[in-house]
Amino acid sequence: MSRVQVPPAAMVPAPLSARCPPCGRDTALSYPSRTMGRMTSTPRSDLDPAVAARLKRGADGLLPAIAQQYDTGEVLMLGWMDDEALHRTLTTGRCTYWSRSRGEYWVKGDTSGHYQFVKSVALDCDADTVLVKVDQVGAACHTGDRTCFDADELPVSAPADMA
Ligand SMILES: [Zn+2]
Repeated sequence: MSRVQVPPAAMVPAPLSARCPPCGRDTALSYPSRTMGRMTSTPRSDLDPAVAARLKRGADGLLPAIAQQYDTGEVLMLGWMDDEALHRTLTTGRCTYWSRSRGEYWVKGDTSGHYQFVKSVALDCDADTVLVKVDQVGAACHTGDRTCFDADELPVSAPADMA
């Protein structure tokens, strides 16, 4: 019976600079995986290609979308849109998001009745954020609050000389 076996891996010379000294992992393999469940290639959508070409999507293919009450200026909520959600928002009159938790499109109000009727849609200066001005029916927040920002105000202090 052999008593001591040298692990075969130890006999393989390490490539010049591809090994992480602490853990021995091949650093070429240490990049984070690209996605968690959402595609990164150009999504299939009927969105106007001229608009789609301008969008600066995140690695998950999504853009943050801020909903604002069109007449009072209230900031109502933040959701996420892919190309198709933006397309539906632009063409159906009702704000449509991509639900990251449920992995599906979500027409705001379909279950709650708290629709967001679209008044205007704008991209920000570098096309990585969407602003949707809406007429919000009832509460924008699923908690029943008018906006998602009503319930958790944080204390703010500033140096006296800024007053
Ligand atoms: Zn909310």
